[in-house]
Amino acid sequence: MEDMLRYQPIWPESAQAGWNLIQMLKITTTRSCWMRCRFCDFSHFVPMIDDHPVPSLSLLQASQSHPALAEAYDLIKIRGGLSFFEPWSYFRSAIRHVHKRNSAPIQALSAVEVQHFHRVEQKPVQEVLEELLWAGATSLGPGGSELLVDSWREEMASLRLSSRQWLSIHKIAERVGLKSQASLMVFPGITEEQIRVHFEIFRELKSLSVIEVKPFRCLGTQLEIMGNPHLLEVLATIQLIKKSFPHVMVAMNIDNLSRDMCELLQWHGVSRAMVTKDVIE
Ligand code: SF4
Repeated sequence: MEDMLRYQPIWPESAQAGWNLIQMLKITTTRSCWMRCRFCDFSHFVPMIDDHPVPSLSLLQASQSHPALAEAYDLIKIRGGLSFFEPWSYFRSAIRHVHKRNSAPIQALSAVEVQHFHRVEQKPVQEVLEELLWAGATSLGPGGSELLVDSWREEMASLRLSSRQWLSIHKIAERVGLKSQASLMVFPGITEEQIRVHFEIFRELKSLSVIEVKPFRCLGTQLEIMGNPHLLEVLATIQLIKKSFPHVMVAMNIDNLSRDMCELLQWHGVSRAMVTKDVIE
């Protein structure tokens, strides 16, 4: 019980820093992924043979012609599952087209995808990251950092990179000039000890400026029975981030959240509120 996550009640007037509304374009590369992380709704088994071929992606085409890319955004997020067939050069070209058609900062791919291309194409991680920067990405996405506790990862996502591998890719990303983005997924029953271990990894990133809090959404995952986290678990996690990293911005997606909920999040320290303005799938 000692490491139980404890919520500290606050008064509304103790509201924290400002509230930056970030209008996002979300580009999903694919909703299929073979990695089978138990907490992910993209984690579907997709047969590679017989009569269930994996459809090829339409990302490259969308990056050249989708009308949403003519709109203004504060951030473009490009993320998705691990592709079966498309090579790294396919994604590099698509990101380059997005960058040429829109001047918004691009948060593209994640350490998980970088490691995938590194393994499949035998390409050094640094080279993949340099090319990602050249294509127009400003940061690597936080994917893979849901909870950087290896015992937990082995149980929930055994095929995934380890915490140290995630860190090592982000350290190289920092060196080549990509900003660090990290996240923390709040699961029901998350403990203070797990969050403390997670933070130890974050402390090794020099340029970490944003931590995205992601409350676990159980629907469509293998963990539906767990349910979603309690609001107080989310708020207590935000409090711990603010205490441990006072200069780092706490971000959260506020799509479909009520005004009251947004105020509550702001009082507890969320200062970067992300809203999905458009999607490309
Ligand atoms: S690697 Fe990412 S997209 Fe694939 S199953 Fe895991 S969390 Fe989902």
